[in-house]
Amino acid sequence: MNFSNSIQAFEQAKLSIPGGVNSPVRAFSSVGGTPPFIKRGEGAYLIDEDDNKFIDYIQSWGPLILGHSDERLVSKLIEAVKHGFSFGAPTRGETELAEKIKSIFPHVELLRFVSSGTEAVMSAIRVARGYTGRSDIIKFEGNYHGHSDSLLVKAGSGATTFGTPSSAGVPECFSKHTYLAKYNDIESVKKAFSSSQTGIACVIIEPIAGNMGLVPADINFLTELKNLCDINGTVLIFDEVMSGFRADLRGSYGLNNIKADLITFGKVIGGGMPVGAFGGKAEIMKFLSPLGSVYQAGTLSGNPLAMAVGNEMIKILIENPDIYKILNNRAINLMNGFKQSADKYNIPLQIDVRGSMFGFFFNSQKVKNFDDALLSYTKRFAKFHRGMLELGIYLAPSQFEAGFIALPTNDNLINETIQKADEVMANL
Ligand SMILES: *Cc1c(COP(=O)(O)O)cnc(C)c1O
Repeated sequence: MNFSNSIQAFEQAKLSIPGGVNSPVRAFSSVGGTPPFIKRGEGAYLIDEDDNKFIDYIQSWGPLILGHSDERLVSKLIEAVKHGFSFGAPTRGETELAEKIKSIFPHVELLRFVSSGTEAVMSAIRVARGYTGRSDIIKFEGNYHGHSDSLLVKAGSGATTFGTPSSAGVPECFSKHTYLAKYNDIESVKKAFSSSQTGIACVIIEPIAGNMGLVPADINFLTELKNLCDINGTVLIFDEVMSGFRADLRGSYGLNNIKADLITFGKVIGGGMPVGAFGGKAEIMKFLSPLGSVYQAGTLSGNPLAMAVGNEMIKILIENPDIYKILNNRAINLMNGFKQSADKYNIPLQIDVRGSMFGFFFNSQKVKNFDDALLSYTKRFAKFHRGMLELGIYLAPSQFEAGFIALPTNDNLINETIQKADEVMANL
């Protein structure tokens, strides 16, 4: 495969943009080689600057559950853009999307839109602190909640990939209110609760972790976590920026029926446009300005173009709930295919699936938490990733990321991918 145009584009980008990218994981540093520079997306495919065509298992890191450039979304966007880009004033589209999300998550009584998942989480934590009058929070090792200061402590995603799970540039006093716990380990949460002098404002968790690879939480663990929060008057926040409308129409709630006090959304609800949202109990959300004393705002929040695409996306998903079953079957087939090849060549591999999300670790033991994930054989992953890319399969360029199936990624493409994985694994 020829990557010469991408190599040139990457070199040129580095002269103007740090590392040539606007989000670190895109640089492919942990798997080596040059990232393909993308020219366009078509359904299941990405086409790069050298006209290489890849089956895309990243789908913009989750948002594109209908694949690239879905015609229905494109026509809604074109219709909306003719009316203006942004007004900085309320529009009906915002209420419509809020009502759709509420219809799926009955425990979300009020919600507010922002422009990214990072902002959604940052704001949810602020309102939880305002509501409880407490400062300390608990997060889990290997969970990623965006790049705001107090959450870049043992964070997943690119932070793990680059060996800097705790970022430089965050003063110690900013992160001293962040207590860490181990994923799927309720004792570690109890310990964090008891080490806080002033009480815990909120516990934030990815109920289906997708940023240390795919590591779902046990239902028992989540149930105990909820009880612990209730007993302590602590706000439980489910960060469903990735898993919402992805693992299931109802995210983790659809799979385990556990109701968090606040939920954060992003990715799928914007269908590829920059959107985030946070919402939950009215009693908590009423602390937000202009009703209450917690300030939060955004020039482009609830942007009309983003709302137009988001509304169409969620409408399609609500009207076609069978999509999730279809995508789930494909994800299971894909992972079983990988596993069969790995077994054939005596390669230790762990696989997991939740709805249209999938994950695999080159690891001899089941991965339940961040420490387990870090035991994975990342050099082997890098080799596998490169081999797959050369054969036209675009997987996340890190062992510590999840994969995503989109609607146009049909059974034939899944089978093609399984065959190619077998070829690559034969040479690992
Ligand atoms: C992607 C992600 C975020 C951050 O969202 P951005 O839009 O990248 O700021 C936060 N939480 C989770 C669980 C995510 O997957």
